[in-house]
Amino acid sequence: MDKIKVRDKEFKKAIPCEDIQQAIKKVAEKINRDFEGKETPLFLSILNGAFMFTADVFKELTISSEVSFVKFSSYRGTATSGKVKELIGLNEDLTGRHVIIMEDIVDTGLTINNVVRQIKTYNPKDVKIATMLFKPDACVEEVSLDYVGMEIPNEFIVGYGLDYDGLGRNYKDIYKVVS
Ligand code: 5GP
Repeated sequence: MDKIKVRDKEFKKAIPCEDIQQAIKKVAEKINRDFEGKETPLFLSILNGAFMFTADVFKELTISSEVSFVKFSSYRGTATSGKVKELIGLNEDLTGRHVIIMEDIVDTGLTINNVVRQIKTYNPKDVKIATMLFKPDACVEEVSLDYVGMEIPNEFIVGYGLDYDGLGRNYKDIYKVVS
């Protein structure tokens, strides 16, 4: 399908699944190399968006690996820095662990930096970030991304786990908004 409609918006195919899978393999290979012979890392997948990325990378891992899923509480406070949301669902002890955060997309960078700040309060050994997509032109924060599947232009996209108003996560390709 080259075009899809999600709710009131039309989207056209921007990244075919073959390119996504190639990017996934590269990310996984790099993680395999970096963690070979090290203590088992814990992958922390940020729901909902990162579930497909996490599953696909995980299938390509040859190192000893653990995965857990967390999400943000619906609570939204306000602060000068913008949205402040709390991570929930973390049941593992992160003390002294290698943690790899799995994110679907880094846009402004606010969300990922918020995740890293919260994870660091649990005293992990180190924290790395893997993101399927990165929009460098939208990023307003200083971010340190260790594994990036693809850099994309500053356009709204859906598919491959990413939604528009709850829908569109199911597509294996990525689509960008046209109208
Ligand atoms: P940031 O805090 O970096 O601006 O945004 C990160 C979050 O915003 C992502 O985890 C994702 O939920 C959402 N997001 C950012 N850009 C897009 C996009 O193009 N499409 C969709 N569906 N979500 C996006």
